[in-house]
Amino acid sequence: MTLPNGENLERWCHNGRLRLRHWWKATSLGVGLGAFWEFAPQDCESLKQTLHILHEEGLRCFPMGNGTNVVGSDEDFSGVVLQLRDACDQIDIATGETGAAVPIARFLREAAHANRGGLSRLVGIPGQLGGMLAMNAGALGQEIGSRVLSVQGFRNGEPFEWHPTPDDFAYRTCHLPDNFVITSLRIQLDPVDGTSEAALLQEELHRRATSTPRGHSAGSVFRNPPEAPAGKLLELAGCKGLQRGNLQVSQQHANWIVKLDDAPATASDCRALFLEMQRRVLALHGIELQSEWRWM
Ligand SMILES: Cc1cc2nc3c(=O)[nH]c(=O)nc-3n(C[C@H](O)[C@H](O)[C@H](O)COP(=O)(O)OP(=O)(O)OC[C@H]3O[C@@H](n4cnc5c(N)ncnc54)[C@H](O)[C@@H]3O)c2cc1C
Repeated sequence: MTLPNGENLERWCHNGRLRLRHWWKATSLGVGLGAFWEFAPQDCESLKQTLHILHEEGLRCFPMGNGTNVVGSDEDFSGVVLQLRDACDQIDIATGETGAAVPIARFLREAAHANRGGLSRLVGIPGQLGGMLAMNAGALGQEIGSRVLSVQGFRNGEPFEWHPTPDDFAYRTCHLPDNFVITSLRIQLDPVDGTSEAALLQEELHRRATSTPRGHSAGSVFRNPPEAPAGKLLELAGCKGLQRGNLQVSQQHANWIVKLDDAPATASDCRALFLEMQRRVLALHGIELQSEWRWM
């Protein structure tokens, strides 16, 4: 794949920062030697103008949140990656309206401050709300999808509003309309006692800090199948400690791949490790595990 022409992009991308990046530096796992153009519009109007032009020019747009569920590629990206951190970072707790680029932890802290809450189990997930919705991120029985009332953004370069129903969500699955770039979401919050809610947030952050593997990762590799937790199946299949290049199946949790250093890791090593884990579980348990990650 080839990168789009940078001079054209300079003309098409309005009011914002355009820069060339590498997947391994832009994602939490640190995988992928390929490059991509990232555009960070300064506001929603610039995003709107740019999306309209990119759509007319036939360029694919990939909205990226914090890159905590994305595995980069070793090839260059032929579209444009959108980073909405500057354009979509507003919160209005009274209405539950929040920008897509707001990190969940910031949203829940501000909500608790205003005596609103009910989603404390999600506080340790390192995503932005747009990415969380796209993945229907969840933890310990809570999922973001069940609390989302409406979603605003752009689709094929035009403004678009989506009102999801419960059927649009399943475990780690969201049937987001195609080509939808989310700019904001309205989230249903419960009235709570702010002090107790803040304590629940702290408790959950502490639980995560002491129970999840440290270092570069992208969270769980596989979804849990109905039969048993993926981590258990992988551990029984002898996956802990398996290694390809600088990537290793965590010794602490068999459903996590961690990068052992700060150097780039290749997508081909990541894919090989992933396939070996999947192969071992299929051979031992007869279960084909499904990826939780977005592979570029
Ligand atoms: C340490 C660690 C712990 C984790 N724990 C959990 C956990 O407990 N539960 C869980 O569910 N996940 C977990 N994850 C995975 C990940 O954090 C979540 O899936 C999170 O929701 C991804 O958010 P993000 O902003 O990083 O999205 P990204 O990884 O950047 O993107 C994920 C997907 O969302 C899409 N997307 C992002 N922003 C937008 C937008 N504005 N409009 C349209 N689409 C968009 C992207 O195109 C991509 O397809 C963990 C990851 C790590 C590294």
